Amino acid sequence: MAEKKLRIIPIGGLGEIGKNMTVVEYGKNILIVDVGIMFPEFDMPGIDHIIPDWGYLDDKKERVVGIVFTHGHEDHVGAVRYMMDYLDVPMYGTPFTMGVVERKLKGSQAKSRINVVKPGGKISLGPFDVEFFNVCHSVPDASGLGITTPAGLVVHTGDFKLDNTPTLGIPTDMGKLSEFASRGVLALLSDSTNADRPGYTPSEAIIDGALRTVFSDAEGRIIVASFSSLVSRVQQVINAAAQFGRRVSLVGTSMVENSKLALKLGHLKDPEGVIIPLSEGLKLPKDKLVIMSTGSQGERTSILGRLSRGQNRDFDAMEGDTIVVSAHAIPGNEEQVSRTINSLIQRGARVIYDPILPVHVSGHAHSEEQKQLLNILRPKYFVPVHGELRHLHAHAGLAQQVGIKPENIATVENGRVLEFTKSSMTIGERVPGRYIYVDGTGIGDIGPAVLRERNRLGEDGFVIVNMLVDMDTGELIEDPELISRGFVFVRDSKGLFNDAKKRIVREVESGGNGSLRKRVEQTVSDFFYGEMRRRPLVFALINQV
Ligand SMILES: [Zn+2]
Ligand SMILES: [Zn+2]
Repeated sequence: MAEKKLRIIPIGGLGEIGKNMTVVEYGKNILIVDVGIMFPEFDMPGIDHIIPDWGYLDDKKERVVGIVFTHGHEDHVGAVRYMMDYLDVPMYGTPFTMGVVERKLKGSQAKSRINVVKPGGKISLGPFDVEFFNVCHSVPDASGLGITTPAGLVVHTGDFKLDNTPTLGIPTDMGKLSEFASRGVLALLSDSTNADRPGYTPSEAIIDGALRTVFSDAEGRIIVASFSSLVSRVQQVINAAAQFGRRVSLVGTSMVENSKLALKLGHLKDPEGVIIPLSEGLKLPKDKLVIMSTGSQGERTSILGRLSRGQNRDFDAMEGDTIVVSAHAIPGNEEQVSRTINSLIQRGARVIYDPILPVHVSGHAHSEEQKQLLNILRPKYFVPVHGELRHLHAHAGLAQQVGIKPENIATVENGRVLEFTKSSMTIGERVPGRYIYVDGTGIGDIGPAVLRERNRLGEDGFVIVNMLVDMDTGELIEDPELISRGFVFVRDSKGLFNDAKKRIVREVESGGNGSLRKRVEQTVSDFFYGEMRRRPLVFALINQV
């Protein structure tokens, strides 16, 4: 009998930042690692988010033994609700992670499938023994996974960095990594996000100094925007506030909820009772208050986004305010973040962001840390994960630098099957790994064709041609009517529209072949393109009498 193979299939997160999901398969058993979402890019109008394409599992649902989560970020747990509608299996993760998952499953039966694993804990699922190990990242209880399979030990780092002085929790568990190495690592799947950045990620500790500078300079209110799951940053702000005699009001649902969870689990500490509700905070003198909110990505609906447009309900950004953007723009959000910062400055606020002061550091390892991890683990095979293609390639290059043979490195994108035995790795067939778009309650009903139409609507608008046609003679009964939106300013374009109407009349009278509707649409489209170099979507409506 042929040797059974271990199959590792990256379903999402390879070739992109977001919607991480990995399938680990041995014999009849399947283990899933993470089910995240991705945020839409600028060319995906109307899309709420994107979930992984788990179509590979359609005929294998009963073989799935469980889902393990590495940590509570959206790109790792964000699609759990959709997954639970699809698959009824137990879920495992550390306390903070499962607290986030539980909130996502509010009101759903699937909550009963939640299992909490203590940090550093171990579980057995079918032929897989899964050891959680602490990694330093930008959310409490972040873990990497050591997955012992009959073919060998697979290490999945999750998202990590090697900060020796993290603000919160424990540094990455180097002892455990050495133990894995002594047992022999068959394959390493490792976070590639910052693989193209030289050196080391600066330590979280440098932010304390930057915040001290901000707090001692600020004369009025301080508003700090960050990620709601970045509990260590909330802690740093609480510490600075305590030191400078200020109170902190947390604003925004996710900020309040995550901080509540972190206080309950002991990740966040407020011994001096610095946190007060916003309603009380706003009554304090301005130099006694810090507001901590979401919106570091300039999202329109976030507090910072609303402040930048002067549309926030409870308070405004104004002269005298110091606003700290304690985050980096996630790739794709750079423009939105710059625009928000500019608008806040326009409103009179002083805005501090990295590199003005080091008020943020990344949660992902830079290249020297990645080499260090590779050197400790000495895996036989290496799969760079979690990154755009450029990051994966840079990471593969680092692995070669530390002596991993190129043929033992698999730089692949979503859906590529990797097969392992104790002594071989083959890159196999491709399974589905597309984008599944979520828009409102619709999941997967919108494809690239609809997005192309939305982009054309967004770029050049639309034109409707309304015609009344005699059923018997095929002649126009009255002049065609043109209605447009987002194309040209109608009042200034009478001549253009009149010329278009003449073309339509001529086309109808020509009695050419094919559908009248299509002919008219093509004529109008070509005419506008010829005149304006624009291609609005054109719809012809034919009313026959
Ligand atoms: Zn993360
Ligand atoms: Zn991530």
